[in-house]
Amino acid sequence: MLELVELDGTIAVRELGCGAAVAGYTPQMVGLTLAQGKQILAETQRHLVQAQTEQHCRRRQICQRCQARRPLKDVRSRRLVSLFGTVAVKAPRFKPCQCMVTCRRTLSPVAEIMPDRCTPEYERVLAKMGALLPYRRARTVLSEFLPLGKPQTVETTRRRTLCVGARLEREAVAAPTCTSAEPAPSITLSIDGGHIRAARQYQGRTFEVLVAQISKGEGKLTVFSSVPAEAHAQTRQLRGVLHGLGASSTTPATILSDGADGPRSLGEAASPGPTHHVLDWFHLAMRIQHPAQAAKSWPSKTEDDRQAGKRLAETIERIRWRLWHGQVRRSLDLIEETAASLEAVAEDTAPASAAQKVARLLRDLRTYVSGQSEIIIDYATARRCGEPISTAITESTVQWLLHRRMNAQQQMRWSPRGAHLMLKVRTAAVNETLDRDYAVAERWAHRPFRKAA
Ligand SMILES: [Zn+2]
Repeated sequence: MLELVELDGTIAVRELGCGAAVAGYTPQMVGLTLAQGKQILAETQRHLVQAQTEQHCRRRQICQRCQARRPLKDVRSRRLVSLFGTVAVKAPRFKPCQCMVTCRRTLSPVAEIMPDRCTPEYERVLAKMGALLPYRRARTVLSEFLPLGKPQTVETTRRRTLCVGARLEREAVAAPTCTSAEPAPSITLSIDGGHIRAARQYQGRTFEVLVAQISKGEGKLTVFSSVPAEAHAQTRQLRGVLHGLGASSTTPATILSDGADGPRSLGEAASPGPTHHVLDWFHLAMRIQHPAQAAKSWPSKTEDDRQAGKRLAETIERIRWRLWHGQVRRSLDLIEETAASLEAVAEDTAPASAAQKVARLLRDLRTYVSGQSEIIIDYATARRCGEPISTAITESTVQWLLHRRMNAQQQMRWSPRGAHLMLKVRTAAVNETLDRDYAVAERWAHRPFRKAA
């Protein structure tokens, strides 16, 4: 039984359901089953929403000025989708009061408390789940545990998620730069790009997604992500995040990237304080790994070959060591020297193809290192001093943020806009700010039903 108590003490009792007394129990009979729990929740919700609506309508029918009742115009019906089922309510509309002082228009009390077809919480949870799981699976999981009744279509889940994403972005762009955060001594900004498969009707097979991970010293990492082609005032949004973490015009920022223009310039533009660019060790190490890997397949038929292969592997290790210590010039010399001697080997002796391959990869490495020479640092010392050197963590964030959700199924393809807005919700969920951000961004909502006076 459900007891509904009004302010004046009036009690209304509603029946939620009933079980039968039995002589003995089996393990399956102890406690509520999921189905029973869902049913009780749904019934409670229905009675509660209907009672609240009726109460609100009764209050609103009374004119605040003359205490007379407004005449009834008509009674419509409304359905409210909530996490605990869809509830149908009666929605009376009232004509203006005869005193003609307060509201002169038709008054629709239900529209005031139900400005949308669903409760805000329903929308928020749907968006959150839609951002964490493929839309279809999100719907399945929600309806497994909640008495949703007839579950929403996949399209509704998608649309709600993207609407919430759009509102979060508008708020992020419009929000005043808050300076209430504790000032950060320094900021590390790791920016990396990833690629998402585009839906067929869009140009290109893939499109770019940027993922930034921001930290101030130890502590928690904050994630930011957007599709540059779709982002509205991307730099401003990222700067807002930095401000929120306490960055000011004097806070030094270390920007770790793979050296590509997009991430670098975004970091540069978004940082309010002085910046220091560093080629992240993760990307550099990956590039060294290419020739190192190729050298492993060096022929080992003869003792000479084995010796040559061993020497080559050692040389590449030496190149890695020099780069790790920030010795750009010396590493370039060694790369050049090694590549040249391999090319000479390729001219006349047996392991021609292996030598050619390693030489080619070394030349690639050379191009990369000389292109990024200005942002290669002494990683060994930096690490000893506890300075940031690698975005390997970002790499796993990219993996989690993008690929887990966006390439979860082979066939999953995205519109750049859909991906962008979904990422707004997903990053808020990861940063654990979704509940707050959602509430704040409400001012950008265009609810189908507007609040009456
Ligand atoms: Zn009146």
